[in-house]
Amino acid sequence: MRPMPTLDPILPLPVDDDALRTALADCELAPLLAAVAHLTGDQSLLRDDLRPAPGGFMQPATLTPEQQAAVIDVAFTALTQWRAAGMPPAPPTSEADLVRLMEFAIGETPDRMYLGLLEEELEPGGVDLRAPQWHRRELAADRNFTVAIIGAGMSGLLTAHRLQQAGVDFVILEKNDDVGGTWWENTYPGCRVDVPNHLYSYSFAQRADWQFRFTPQTLLIDYFREVADHFGLREHTRFGTEVASAVYDETTDQWQLALRTSDGQAETLVADALVSAVGQLNRPRFPDIEGRDSFAGPSFHSARWDHSVPLAGKRVAVIGTAASAVQLMPHVSDAAHELLIFQRSPNWISTNPAYTQPLPDGLRWMATHVPGYLQWYRFTLFWGLTEGGLPACRVDPNWDGDGRSVSEINDLLRQFSTAGIEAHLAERPDLLAVAIPPYPPMAKRMLIDDGRWWETLKADTTTLVTDHIARITATGIVTADAAGTEVEHAVDVIIYATGFTASDFLLPMAVTGVGGVDLHEWWADNPRAYLGVTIPHFPKLFCLYGPNTNIVANGSIIFFSECGARYAVDCIRLLLETGTSRLDLREDVLDAFSAIVDEGNANMAWGASDAKSWYKNRTGKVTQNWPFNLVEYWERTKQVDAADYSLT
Ligand SMILES: Cc1cc2nc3c(=O)[nH]c(=O)nc-3n(C[C@H](O)[C@H](O)[C@H](O)COP(=O)(O)OP(=O)(O)OC[C@H]3O[C@@H](n4cnc5c(N)ncnc54)[C@H](O)[C@@H]3O)c2cc1C
Repeated sequence: MRPMPTLDPILPLPVDDDALRTALADCELAPLLAAVAHLTGDQSLLRDDLRPAPGGFMQPATLTPEQQAAVIDVAFTALTQWRAAGMPPAPPTSEADLVRLMEFAIGETPDRMYLGLLEEELEPGGVDLRAPQWHRRELAADRNFTVAIIGAGMSGLLTAHRLQQAGVDFVILEKNDDVGGTWWENTYPGCRVDVPNHLYSYSFAQRADWQFRFTPQTLLIDYFREVADHFGLREHTRFGTEVASAVYDETTDQWQLALRTSDGQAETLVADALVSAVGQLNRPRFPDIEGRDSFAGPSFHSARWDHSVPLAGKRVAVIGTAASAVQLMPHVSDAAHELLIFQRSPNWISTNPAYTQPLPDGLRWMATHVPGYLQWYRFTLFWGLTEGGLPACRVDPNWDGDGRSVSEINDLLRQFSTAGIEAHLAERPDLLAVAIPPYPPMAKRMLIDDGRWWETLKADTTTLVTDHIARITATGIVTADAAGTEVEHAVDVIIYATGFTASDFLLPMAVTGVGGVDLHEWWADNPRAYLGVTIPHFPKLFCLYGPNTNIVANGSIIFFSECGARYAVDCIRLLLETGTSRLDLREDVLDAFSAIVDEGNANMAWGASDAKSWYKNRTGKVTQNWPFNLVEYWERTKQVDAADYSLT
């Protein structure tokens, strides 16, 4: 077997032809022949008459039933012959052959600039091409250099793994008692990803046996725990340790961290470089509503679910109707006597009945038993999302959508999504009147639901309240309509599904850089970082999932953090290689970069629309999102350019 970038071992193909046939019938066909041709080295399997149509690489429907049967036959014969030959490792693949395999899998020829990116994602031969290509012992064997990583979520674990590969010492400081960040904290019922898990997983730790296409939190947390154990990252982690402040000491060129442990102890820690992997969505946001503290019953935030509060027989209010709310509401409705939903504005929601369904057994079987099938399957998903939904987000300056769409394609999406909502709410004109968003699709993230949200909304035990919340009292929520007429809604429990303080990057930590400059004062409500990672006057501070690295319509945040971590680790290479102790970004580099990103965001639905969203900070600036495609970020973060920095 060739090495595979998987957490679980790939098992031998069993001598069970029925099982193989059954599995083949279940799996995605476009990646199948590419995987089998790659494994066997037989490029003649890539028959023109079985080639998927461009853009149809994940839809067997673009192949006729006869073509589908032929693909399965060809794969079956090739795999049984490969098994009979003793399951040899895949032969070396030339670049030209690799390109042919890619073209076959996606049904089109990728632009040359994509090839390197796609090759990395494919990891042919199981080689982790994103791993640092250097080791500290070759660059600075005698130099003590320790990196402090704040946060043991997805980004922190990833950076730790990369530093470990490069032989650089590190310590992870984590305020929680376990790894996983988002996926440890959000235990609300119904919590799951909305990006397919074959992509929402590390390129170097893929999982062959995902049970779901969109994994629930209860299983996803196991993945991050397993990664931490597999790579030995726990022993480098100090749990229950919050970083309260970080100060750059100019005399030693080190970061001095003030720590607070969960048992109330204060400590300091010194590090040569600092990685902030504190997440964009880590600090719950509560709405600023008068009387919020006066409510006498139980209340909690979706990200701090209080499992000790029984909902059975209760009138439960949920404030908010965005991503977490749509996921948790059907479960609250099942448990509670009555559900009152308080909506500020409706969301665009696409219904996918398969969203919560398990993956077909055959697809899991193929990924587990046929070396490389997993990587080719992931690769086709990845290709589909390099651009993903971006074309529907871009503003056409010549389009007059009356604030409800930003381009022709965006308007088509609007019409399609509107028809979907109308179909769900046809018998409830009262709900329909308040369920269609007045803003363009993609001004906020398009939510996914399996249909249960609409059923919940229509249930006899649900009340949708769209009037403005005037205040909260000891016994309920008071709303006021446009004329100022107030209604008190008595409730037993209040659940805040009101999101996070996303644009308050790094808060509540106090971060002080060169010359005593305070990071949040320097930002002055305009959080910016070069590539989302580095900030002038804050040498050797590297942010992951930092400003403008969130994506709305094209892919997984894990890809972004993998790129950001590669860049941060490359900066550390530069420091070790040049024997320098301070690496400080030039301000003009950040200014030029920010101008490009700001202009990009202004030309996207989320920037152009007036709709309020967590993508914007309190001044209305888009501080969260990356407005371009994946290859653009990958290209920019592949390697640090020393000329962008002052190195001393
Ligand atoms: C409900 C929900 C669903 C999501 N779904 C998706 C999805 O489908 N696809 C997708 O791509 N993204 C999704 N996201 C975004 C998600 O946050 C990222 O994908 C990813 O988990 C971010 O990882 P991270 O490590 O950067 O941050 P986090 O997961 O937020 O981890 C940050 C860690 O830092 C720790 N920390 C913070 N401050 C300090 C401090 N001062 N001292 C010590 N420790 C500290 C925290 O305790 C936490 O463990 C979702 C987010 C939420 C909340």
